[in-house]
Amino acid sequence: MKKFMSAFLAAFLSFTFVFAAVAAPVTTFAQTSTSDGVTVTLERPVITVSSLRSKVYIKWDSVEGASYYKVYRKEASGGSWENLETTSKRKYTDSDVELGTKYSYRIRAFSSGGAGHSKYSKKQNILPCAIDPDKKMVALTFDDGPGIYTESIIKCLRKYGMHATFFVVGSNASRYKDVILDEYEAGCEIGNHTWAHSNLAAIGTSAAKSTVAKTNKLIKSITGEAPVLLRPPYGSTSSSVKSAIKMPEIMWSIDTLDWKTRNTQKTISSVMNNVKDGSIVLMHDIHQPTMKAALSIIPKLVSKGYQLVTVSELAKYKGVTLKNGNTYGSIK
Ligand code: ZN
Repeated sequence: MKKFMSAFLAAFLSFTFVFAAVAAPVTTFAQTSTSDGVTVTLERPVITVSSLRSKVYIKWDSVEGASYYKVYRKEASGGSWENLETTSKRKYTDSDVELGTKYSYRIRAFSSGGAGHSKYSKKQNILPCAIDPDKKMVALTFDDGPGIYTESIIKCLRKYGMHATFFVVGSNASRYKDVILDEYEAGCEIGNHTWAHSNLAAIGTSAAKSTVAKTNKLIKSITGEAPVLLRPPYGSTSSSVKSAIKMPEIMWSIDTLDWKTRNTQKTISSVMNNVKDGSIVLMHDIHQPTMKAALSIIPKLVSKGYQLVTVSELAKYKGVTLKNGNTYGSIK
């Protein structure tokens, strides 16, 4: 009976909603002319802006009857609006931003041929996600996941606006695609740790190439971007592996041995007693004690003035170009 009632209520509400949606243009959008002589016929768009990886991402809801949209930007402190893009999509990525400059964005919807348009959306201000190259940085890296503890680490990173790198195993990534996407959307980097945690130096170059390629392909299918960094399982590599795979190999400068001790306090101490500017820390997000350690390490490092960055960000802001086939243990 309860089920029937809620179905009835849902049907009633959806009827009300449809009715409201149909009625809205008549009441709210009585045709008016604007200064440019074009008639306001479309509903005002709603936009959201966010920033990661030194880019600003602008998205907006669909406007009924719109065939394209114009995206405008100006500096929040002043200046005039410029039209960045005219698009039929409902998103735009602004890669041409200065870190430290606050921007305002707004959009407008147009009907076919520009015969009518909406009012401008409300303006949204944003400071592009910035890393200060003169402050200390550390790259936390988590291998072998994703697993059931990974989301807790991502949540903590988000809370402090910090990033990490997850060197994922392809077979786990295929089971936890939503976690991979969450890592990516949190601004974290996804690195390659082979499909099945293979010892690359031992399996032959053609198998080494294929286990890495299969993992890159899967990650690209989830996030749209293939990993650019490799962490060879067991740190095991060879000159033939390096020349066959053609990715930078990222090792570590702090080995917490978390997989061996399975001890939260020992993992925390290992990081806090050894961390330096440019450290790359090795941990494993598949172990619960490591997850608990990470929830403590992240705020501790932040309070000591460290910026928690991805390995690629660490290299970028230290002015180091990571080269294919080279091996890196820390980046200074
Ligand atoms: Zn591993």
